[in-house]
Amino acid sequence: MNINKPSLGIVWLKRDLRLNDHEPLHSALKENRQVLLLYVFETIFAQDPHYSSRHFDFIKQSLLDLNKQLENYNTEVLISQGRVINIFEEINETYNINKLYSHQETGLDITFTRDKSVKKWCSSESISWKEFNQQGVFRRMTNRKKWLSKWTELMNKTQFSISESPNSFLPKNKIESLSKFLVTPSLETKTFPKIQVGGSTQAHRYMNSFFEKRHYNYQKHISKPDLARKSCSRLSPYLAYGNLSMRELLQRTEEEKEKGNSSRGLQAFESRLRWQAHFIQKFEMECSMEFVSVNKGYHNLAKPINKEHIEAWKKGLTGVPMVDAAMRCLAATGYLNFRMRALVVSFFVHQLWQPWQAASAHLAREFLDFEPGIHFPQLQMQAGETGINTLRIYNPVKNGLEHDPLGVFTKSWVPEIVSLPDSLVHTPWAITPFEEAMYNFYPGKNYPKPIVNLEDSRKQASDILWNKQKEPLVNQECKRILRRHTLSNRKRIQ
Ligand SMILES: Cc1cc2nc3c(=O)[nH]c(=O)nc-3n(C[C@H](O)[C@H](O)[C@H](O)COP(=O)(O)OP(=O)(O)OC[C@H]3O[C@@H](n4cnc5c(N)ncnc54)[C@H](O)[C@@H]3O)c2cc1C
Repeated sequence: MNINKPSLGIVWLKRDLRLNDHEPLHSALKENRQVLLLYVFETIFAQDPHYSSRHFDFIKQSLLDLNKQLENYNTEVLISQGRVINIFEEINETYNINKLYSHQETGLDITFTRDKSVKKWCSSESISWKEFNQQGVFRRMTNRKKWLSKWTELMNKTQFSISESPNSFLPKNKIESLSKFLVTPSLETKTFPKIQVGGSTQAHRYMNSFFEKRHYNYQKHISKPDLARKSCSRLSPYLAYGNLSMRELLQRTEEEKEKGNSSRGLQAFESRLRWQAHFIQKFEMECSMEFVSVNKGYHNLAKPINKEHIEAWKKGLTGVPMVDAAMRCLAATGYLNFRMRALVVSFFVHQLWQPWQAASAHLAREFLDFEPGIHFPQLQMQAGETGINTLRIYNPVKNGLEHDPLGVFTKSWVPEIVSLPDSLVHTPWAITPFEEAMYNFYPGKNYPKPIVNLEDSRKQASDILWNKQKEPLVNQECKRILRRHTLSNRKRIQ
């Protein structure tokens, strides 16, 4: 340590882009005379197929929002790009990094590998790295016996504020001097008019409008592809990038329930908030799920890649209107409600008989709220490859008729079928030659014929997967997964 250099505490921001309820920031301000907030657009993400410009734009918007809030403290986030250790090294030239503060991250293998390198670098420089738990996901757990009580304890804690010692922030002029030695990315964002904008300010807007009004029809609309977009909270990207802490959201939900606000809907909402950490905990304890199914009995399932089918699915050109509408909507807006997510995955893994791994990166790039700890376990659940969940093959026609009977959602994303009557919206291939002329709609010309026979492909997938469930390795793995990953009250949370 060079005593001529001033000492500095660094808060390394990752998926926690907020000021409120930020324990690393709170602790850094308490323990250091000078604190720097740092965000690095890391090369590992720029090169990873799960991330796309919509994620980077969301992060940029979140950082601009943070900097606006930080104006009151005469500071800003130091924003750079490159390899995180190189940036720490550069800062360490001017300051003695005293401590590094961050939230724990349960992410892809690339972040796990990066964290191991950061740990090594910190110990070589005698810098201590304090990591905090923000989600209620615990490291080194071997089963779920104590998980729920530990999660509840964490979520009931008082929220952390920065009001106690806000004077310790490194001032703007010093941050500007540091930036000169670093690569600063442009914070300009593309215009995606239909995609949610990042930042805590937006997160609070969504949260307030949900509790004030939108939650009234939460349960009634949750499976409707169009109505769910308003009646669900739409908070997932804000939770994924930490614009809002789960603790703040849960505590607010409790307050709203106490006020007597539509408590059944809010009860259902609250259990889903718990599912977030429940799924991420699974991934934390079984991170190989990024690459292979949690149940080893399914590793030998043969699903040959069909590139044409995959392309048609990605582009929303499968000839099945409900699937195509959902895929096109996802591409344009970055969001689908739960049922539509399950439906497009189900079509891919069952009806197209493609491995979930072949859908993974594309979907991750498209979902604005991509959260690895939910993404991989959900993909495997929908693919029927956990062995512990009931096999569900979503019927796109039945779902269309039930949840979009007038085709409002479907027609808005598949304009090719706009001339068709309600009775044909979800089965345009059933049109008669007489109707073809009447509606000026010709399957295979205006819009593709279905790329697979829905009934035959459903039966084929179902037969294989039901038989698979009888195999000894699948069953042996089932027992292991139940012991390791499920709660005693399994009826409520899977
Ligand atoms: C294949 C597939 C992939 C998914 N990938 C993601 C993902 O990357 N990120 C993500 O946040 N959600 C994911 N989900 C879960 C769910 O679809 C979304 O959380 C939800 O649709 C987000 O909308 P909302 O915020 O309006 O939800 P609300 O119904 O308002 O729920 C509030 C919050 O609860 C949590 N939540 C809700 N449902 C679930 C669930 N089934 N599992 C875990 N947490 C849940 C989320 O944090 C959500 O933001 C996935 C589901 C499927 C089927």
